[in-house]
Amino acid sequence: MISPLPIAGGSVACGAAAMAWAVRGRSSAVFGPSVWRGPRARRALALTFDDGPSEDTPRILDILSAHGVAATFFPCGANVERLPELARAVALAGHEIGNHGYNHPLCCFRSREFIAADMERAQQVILERTGVRPAWYRAPYGVRWFGMRRAQRQLNLQGIMWTVIGYDWNLRAEAVVERMAGRASNGAILCLHDGRELRTRPDIGTTIEAVRRLVPLLLDQGYKLETVSRLLCPTT
Ligand SMILES: [Zn+2]
Repeated sequence: MISPLPIAGGSVACGAAAMAWAVRGRSSAVFGPSVWRGPRARRALALTFDDGPSEDTPRILDILSAHGVAATFFPCGANVERLPELARAVALAGHEIGNHGYNHPLCCFRSREFIAADMERAQQVILERTGVRPAWYRAPYGVRWFGMRRAQRQLNLQGIMWTVIGYDWNLRAEAVVERMAGRASNGAILCLHDGRELRTRPDIGTTIEAVRRLVPLLLDQGYKLETVSRLLCPTT
């Protein structure tokens, strides 16, 4: 007879792995509808920037503008309140704006009310300060939890993850570029950061340098760089 212990242990381990994937997996939609890549039919991809705005966000805007490409920014509500002119500048430059929560909370084990309040506060602040009502919600740390599905539905937000994340808060610029260019593919959603959570005056030099090198590289590879909405719902 097989001891029940290994079975129980295996089952627990399996359950824990499934839960970890449900919470953090880029393709998980367990806690709400979520997209992690666009269609593969077109040679297009989306650059996205989380955690802004920060004092150096304009340097990223300059690079994107020099190449005439649009991106999608997922600012934190608290950063938008701290730097409203920069949040507005992002919108005025023609980039898409999503919702990345107000205080960039880690949502696992938080209450449904907490999650809904943080998401709604960010949505309100972004609307007030930029005039844009986000359509996409990127969960802070990519961590989804109970209550997100309902909160997203109430705010008419679609969850979005990424196809490739840059680790630009950790790696050197060359490594970020190599990683992203090497994994770029039709319909990919690339995730970088124009801020560092809620830090004031964060050093985003690595991200800026990576973007400076990556954008021309991707364009040379024949990719169109589009906003998330355009990538996922092309109108032409
Ligand atoms: Zn973030």
